[in-house]
Amino acid sequence: MLKGLLFPEENFIFINPAKTQHLNRDDMTKTLVHELLHVLFPDTDENSIRAFEDIIWQKLNNEQKEILKSYLPK
Ligand SMILES: [Zn+2]
Repeated sequence: MLKGLLFPEENFIFINPAKTQHLNRDDMTKTLVHELLHVLFPDTDENSIRAFEDIIWQKLNNEQKEILKSYLPK
């Protein structure tokens, strides 16, 4: 399953819009956080990135999530 993909050379993040991959826009925003963590920590393994993703997602308030969500295409 592919939820998102980072293209570091192109500064491009792909978020899979398929309903089978994301339940809703909150879920897509969480994937955006995941891919941004790959940008910040390029040498960190996938399991650690997933753990950071969960920690950061819990710490973000609704306003912060809305700001991140605004970067998703409509
Ligand atoms: Zn990843």
